Amino acid sequence: MKQSDLSDRVKATKTGNLTGSCLCGGVRYRIQGLVRDVVNCYCTQCQKTSGHHVAATRVKEKDLFVDAHETLHWYESTPGYKRGFCKQCGGNLFWSRLSDDQISVMAGTIDPPTGLKTVEYIYEEDASDYIEIPKGAG
Ligand SMILES: [Zn+2]
Ligand SMILES: [Zn+2]
Repeated sequence: MKQSDLSDRVKATKTGNLTGSCLCGGVRYRIQGLVRDVVNCYCTQCQKTSGHHVAATRVKEKDLFVDAHETLHWYESTPGYKRGFCKQCGGNLFWSRLSDDQISVMAGTIDPPTGLKTVEYIYEEDASDYIEIPKGAG
């Protein structure tokens, strides 16, 4: 399945009051608003930037408050798409389509418990050969 089909299938239904950060703490954020369950993305770009695959939730950009951003850096991975990471510790935090009012937040950067579930798998066909995708996914 492609990212573009997702918004119809997986809706943001949980009301979150979550906090998160990168490993070094140079980037810290809060989410206050509706939070989508977690989608795993196995596209080549997510594998290359994360070192494995991306697991992300998605929120409205207005509901994401970045409290610390000294080390936040944005990389335009494809024209119109940007990925936010910490240039000190290398942590992947955000993925965003510039034309969207929503932003993906890497689920592993959220302070647990998140209250979220992994519900969907996309770009499984691009997954590297060592990756095991749970049966019945996608
Ligand atoms: Zn960091
Ligand atoms: Zn991806």
